[in-house]
Amino acid sequence: MIIKEAKFVISNTKVSLCPTPDKPEYAFIGRSNVGKSSLINMLMEQKGLAKTSSSPGKTQLINHFIVNDEWFLVDLPGYGYAKVSKGSRDEWRKMINYYFLKRENLTCVFVLIDSRHKPLKQDLDFIDYIGKLGIPFAIIFTKTDKQSATKTDANIAAYRRSLRETWDELPPIFQSSSTSREGRDEILAYIEEINTS
Ligand code: GDP
Repeated sequence: MIIKEAKFVISNTKVSLCPTPDKPEYAFIGRSNVGKSSLINMLMEQKGLAKTSSSPGKTQLINHFIVNDEWFLVDLPGYGYAKVSKGSRDEWRKMINYYFLKRENLTCVFVLIDSRHKPLKQDLDFIDYIGKLGIPFAIIFTKTDKQSATKTDANIAAYRRSLRETWDELPPIFQSSSTSREGRDEILAYIEEINTS
């Protein structure tokens, strides 16, 4: 897919205020610092489109972008912030849950996982949650440039083993690096394939 145009539309906390759900929607989520903003900017080839974690004030919002006037890209607030109060965590949970249940055009959620780690409970719990809701999702292992391919493969294999304990079928799995641009073609081709099927 060629990205002709990617534009910010709106940020809010309410599904009712999200754009009219008349186009397929792809959401990105993961633990804070997983590289979500960097990945979105790499996919869209726009440096400052998604705000990186160093920009305060963006964390608890549902951020909508429109791509090629054909599909919505959504930057969801991440989980696992060390310094977040229980109140904010509950707010996050409520908002995200509502979004997943009510956003009728939601087509696929990309769950981002840092490829440098062995399976983390927080990520496995999130996958469990989203899988049980029946929402189509795929996993993207980020920051692959930070280590050898052997290490990345070993960590992904460990995740596959953990997921197989619960699920018969595994979701599509991608690898990405926002510095080497690994994964860009594959992820965009996957979105295009769904959009045109
Ligand atoms: P977010 O909190 O998930 O949006 O994460 P960011 O995109 O802000 O990235 C967190 C940190 O990881 C930043 O310092 C990024 O420069 C760095 N980072 C993100 N993705 C990559 C990657 O693919 N490779 C490398 N080497 N660093 C990355």
